[in-house]
Amino acid sequence: MLSKRIQSLSPSLTIAISTLAQELKAEGKDVISFSAGEPDFNTPQVIKDAGIAAITAGFTKYTAVPGIIELRETIAAKLKRDNALEYSPANIITSNGAKQSLFNLFQVALEEGDEVIIPAPYWVTYPELVKYSGATSIFIETEDIDNFKITAEKLKSAITPKTKMLILTTPSNPTGSLYSKEELSKLGEVLKGTDILVASDEMYEKLVYDAAFTAPASISDDMFQRTITINGLSKAVAMTGWRFGYLATPNKELISAMNKLQSQSTSNICSITQHAAIAGLDGSADADIEMMRQAFKKRRDLAVELFNESDKLSVNKPDGAFYLFVNIKKVSNDSMQFAKDLLSEKGVAVVPGLGFGTEGYFRFSFASDEETIREGIKRIRDFCEK
Ligand code: PMP
Ligand code: GLU
Repeated sequence: MLSKRIQSLSPSLTIAISTLAQELKAEGKDVISFSAGEPDFNTPQVIKDAGIAAITAGFTKYTAVPGIIELRETIAAKLKRDNALEYSPANIITSNGAKQSLFNLFQVALEEGDEVIIPAPYWVTYPELVKYSGATSIFIETEDIDNFKITAEKLKSAITPKTKMLILTTPSNPTGSLYSKEELSKLGEVLKGTDILVASDEMYEKLVYDAAFTAPASISDDMFQRTITINGLSKAVAMTGWRFGYLATPNKELISAMNKLQSQSTSNICSITQHAAIAGLDGSADADIEMMRQAFKKRRDLAVELFNESDKLSVNKPDGAFYLFVNIKKVSNDSMQFAKDLLSEKGVAVVPGLGFGTEGYFRFSFASDEETIREGIKRIRDFCEK
């Protein structure tokens, strides 16, 4: 009865594990979850107030499919201010989360026979959405000694005449790796003279700790033309439930095709979210963003130290995002079984590395308070060192 397309799609592992942990907790089990890719902070008051004001003012009707012009102007101003990128509002579409932005992009740009290069470890959703578009994922493996980053040489050898797109995630989910300007320039050089598009997922842009964030599209005019910049507010200002993401590209054909798809699927995103998002993007929430960034930085340092004190576990200190990709090779070569046993024996939920395409690791989200982090890592270490 079901289409072959949907039958081949796997459900999101990150969401499945977070849901399981929530269910176990609701049953009264002593479960601590480090599986969710979600800030534990509340949405800043200034954003909530903008949403409430939108309801009161009656902004509760359909809007233009890509979003109201004030919102797209605010996004254009943000991209100019933060990333030195010049997009006009006509080059921007807002969607129900960056996830829908990616979905729309893959649906309109990819088809059977196309190859999409994805550095591994990767966010669980990419290969599934690529598969749903009919295209094929080509993975470039990376390791912790390379800080989980691809090099120009690796990229070059993955390119074939069928390559249609490269997905770059900086900072990365699940490793937190951040590409420097120089590294991005080298990757850009490899792409010169090709028609390869770059889907640049910048969801964790605001969560960087030591080094500066560089937008791939800002590297050169060549990179600007081929890059689709994808971002949102779920992580930057704890707006996961509001469903807000956006995408920008100078490519008019792509924009028009994605507007067409969205006009026939979900139309505009929630009108109230649109007004709230303006407050998340125009600088009003900058103090809140900085407070959360500082808190995440402290938690990162704590968690990295606690894991690396164990002689069974090791982890790189990530430059960004709120994840650690913890090496368990001394303990297990089956991350799925490891995660299952850890949950049933110690009540700790983490996401197995296999879900991100890389065996021998688990992802630990440090978007929890320090006490929970201490208790959780204690249990994980007890489990590994037994
Ligand atoms: N990209 C990355 C790398 C992510 O981790 C996520 C998960 N939230 C998303 C995109 C999608 O986020 P959202 O749909 O909430 O905007
Ligand atoms: N992106 C987050 C994560 O990796 C949220 C869950 C999801 O959308 O997959 O956990």
